[in-house]
Amino acid sequence: MDLVQWDVPKKRRNGSSYYEQSGVHATEDRKNTVCGTDITTKRNPSIFRTITWAAVVTCYNCAYRLALQGKWPLDRVPGKNGTTHPAPVAQ
Ligand SMILES: [Zn+2]
Repeated sequence: MDLVQWDVPKKRRNGSSYYEQSGVHATEDRKNTVCGTDITTKRNPSIFRTITWAAVVTCYNCAYRLALQGKWPLDRVPGKNGTTHPAPVAQ
């Protein structure tokens, strides 16, 4: 699974700006995240592939949609629980 992260513009109280990294989303086509965000409009997106994506992705909506598609692995993911990630979908 490919994962993607990008820079999110933020503002300080004094009006200056800076960037923070977004959450880690999943992507199947490298154009959109599984949760529907257009990657091509994001600032400085970095896309990386990992076989341990389920332990790395932090976007609940991506994980939830992958669970609905039956792509969520049946193994429990250490450090993840039902509030951050959906339960695996029964096959
Ligand atoms: Zn997402």
